[in-house]
This record gives sequence, structure tokens and C-alpha cells, in this order.
Amino acid sequence: MKIHEYQAKELFKKYSVPTPQGRVAFSPDEAVEVAKTLGGYPVVVKAQIHAGGRGKGGGVKLAQSEQEVERIAGQIIGMDLVTHQTGPRGQEVKKVLVEQGLAIAKELYLSIIPDRAIARIVIMASEAGGMDIEEVAAKTPQKIIKVAINPLQGIQAHHCRQVAFGLNLPAAFMKPFAALLKNLYQLFVDYDGSLVEINPLVLTADGSVVALDGKINFDDNALFRHQDILEYRDIDEEDPLDVEASKYNLNYINLDGNVGNMVNGAGLAMATMDLIKLAGAEPANFLDVGGGASSEMVENGFRIILSDPSVKGILINIFGGILRCDVLAEGVVQAAQKIGINVPVVVRMEGTNIEEGRRILAESGLDLITATDLKDAAGKVADIAKFEANI
Ligand code: GDP
Ligand code: MN
Repeated sequence: MKIHEYQAKELFKKYSVPTPQGRVAFSPDEAVEVAKTLGGYPVVVKAQIHAGGRGKGGGVKLAQSEQEVERIAGQIIGMDLVTHQTGPRGQEVKKVLVEQGLAIAKELYLSIIPDRAIARIVIMASEAGGMDIEEVAAKTPQKIIKVAINPLQGIQAHHCRQVAFGLNLPAAFMKPFAALLKNLYQLFVDYDGSLVEINPLVLTADGSVVALDGKINFDDNALFRHQDILEYRDIDEEDPLDVEASKYNLNYINLDGNVGNMVNGAGLAMATMDLIKLAGAEPANFLDVGGGASSEMVENGFRIILSDPSVKGILINIFGGILRCDVLAEGVVQAAQKIGINVPVVVRMEGTNIEEGRRILAESGLDLITATDLKDAAGKVADIAKFEANI
């Protein structure tokens, strides 16, 4: 799960990670009210959306007066902010963070992520922080330092020194930086983070280290033990179809292609997407209905796939194990009766109760295309999608 910058900064405060003074505002008037409490100008007005790259997209602006705060907040609230992380349609901004503007001496990059391959928590940092960090990573990766921490030992003073030396931090910043890094690490561990990122972490002219930006992603599987984080969820920032699917416990992710697919098992779903691509088409979604799916779940999965207007054909690929073929077939028939299926459907089914499943589909009167094997299924649905897309 992702949260907004202003929410990340609330957690930073709780862990004594210094942030600029400020508060979230939902209207230009409220933005002015917040600005008045900040004790002077400039003030920064920042769009609150889950995507990064807001600065380059025009979602982060400095204001020198009350009038400017009002005008800039008015521009930003309600805009469809397009960044390299939002896609071309952008994301509607509903709120802004209004903060005191700082005199920046240097912008650093700092993040903490788990590295599953080495079973360590890794701190990444760079002297070349700020809005071009992606370019730094691509062109001069040697400018990004990494320090791995054994999670059983936790963060030690020597880890902090190693990162600080790697950043060429002036001696005066050593102490506040080490304290910040330890606190940030603690936050990451306490809340089961999958990413904590501060870009930029700034050194100010008066000798402090401040988190100017803040991003935290959480491990969804651990959210049950962080009720306070669940309250931060902002459904407006999520894909509407993904939200709908999560209500039914379906593992669904909306994608850009036009071949819908319904599969049981995440590995099989990934293999199915590969085969669709290999056959020259693009998947419209990832959907793992799960091993123990009921016919209701299959029906809901169908409804969600069909509510994506770009879907031109559907591939059902089920290996009947715990989810038996007859249960799947019932779900398909129910969905067809209730919602009507207006695109061609290719079915590849094998496994438990296959005969019964085939009988139910055959007797349903539905116009389904059956496939002999997985490759055949992917080829057939790709041909349909390509044909439909060209009409
Ligand atoms: P992002 O583009 O979505 O990552 O948004 P950031 O919060 O990182 O802001 C983008 C850029 O705005 C930063 O890299 C800074 O250069 C600039 N910025 C943000 N806050 C301030 C501030 O208080 N003072 C100054 N001078 N620049 C700021
Ligand atoms: Mn940033």
C-alpha cells in the first residue's frame, strides 16, 4: 500500500525524522490558513498524489505571498497532474501540502528497501539527490551507494558512518544524519515497510538535515497489524477496477492490453500473460482467482474483466486442482446469464472434474471457443484480439 507525502511526514515526525513545518489543505482558502501559521515566506505548495515526479510535472511550487499561495493552490487543486509515474491521463489532485520553504544547501537521496536476494535490508543513498535521481541511477550508478544490514542485528553506528562517508557529508552533519537514519530504519522495521524514500533529503544552510519529501510503501501482507496505516488508505489514488477486485479478494491488476484473462494460480497467470505476449497480443489484466475460488468469485472476476472497455477477447485458463473444473464452469455460466458476455471467450481447462466442467459448458448454450492446449488457447485469443482491434 502507498500513502501520501503528508502522511509519510506524520510518521516521520513520530520517529523524530525532521520535516519542514506544514499541513495538508483541501482548498485555496485552507492553504492560505496553513501558510499564515508558517511564519514567513517562501512557502511551498505541493500536490498530494501517490505518484512521484510532481516537481517536473508542475505540482510543486514556491509562493512568496498569501496571494500567491491562494493562486498556486487554486491551480494545483483540481488539476490532472501528469508525471512519468501517472500515465498520460494524469491523476486528479484533491489536496496540497503547504510547507515552509527552506534554503537548500544540498539535495541528497536516501532510501531503505528489503533485498530479498541477499535477505538483507538495504540502505541506498546518493550525493546526487533531487529530481534527476532516475537519470543518475541509469547513467552513473556508481553515484549510488548501498549498505546492507542483517535484519537480525539491526542498524549499527558503523552502518550510519558508512552511508555518511559515502555521501561525503561534512562533519557537522554526521550526528544529526546518523540519528535520522537510525530512526528511519526503525520506522521501516516497525511498520513492515517495503520502501521508505526521502528524495531530496536536504542539508540546510543552518546545519540541519531535513526530509523535504517522503514516500513510504507498506507490505500489504502485514497491514493487518497496522490499523493506523490502514486509515491512511486513499481509494481515489487506486485503479477503480483494482479496488473493486480487492472487495472480492481477487488478485487483479489492470494492465494496458486488450486480452482479458482469468487464471487460477499466480504462476500460471504469469505464464499465461507470457504466452499471450508471445502470440503477439497484450494482456489487459492479471487475474489469479485463487486456488479455492467459488463460482461467485469467478462471476465477479468476469464482471471486472468485462468492465474494462479495452477488453476484446477473454482467455480462461484453469488447471483444476482445488478449484474444480465444474465449479469454474458454473461460474462462467452464471456470469454469462447475469451480465451477458459480449466478447469472444476462449477456454482452456484441465484437471479435476474436467468431464463435468465440459458438459456444463457444452449444455449452457454459450458460444465458447475451446482450445486443445495452452499454446493453442493463447494463439486463438490473440488472433481474436488483433482482429477486433483492427475493425
Ligand atoms: P517530487 O518531484 O514529486 O519528488 O516532489 P519533491 O517533494 O521532491 O519536490 C520537488 C523539488 O522541489 C525538490 O527536489 C526541490 O528542489 C524543490 N523543493 C521542494 N520543497 C522546497 C523548498 O522548501 N525550498 C526549495 N528551495 N525548493 C523546494
Ligand atoms: Mn521527491
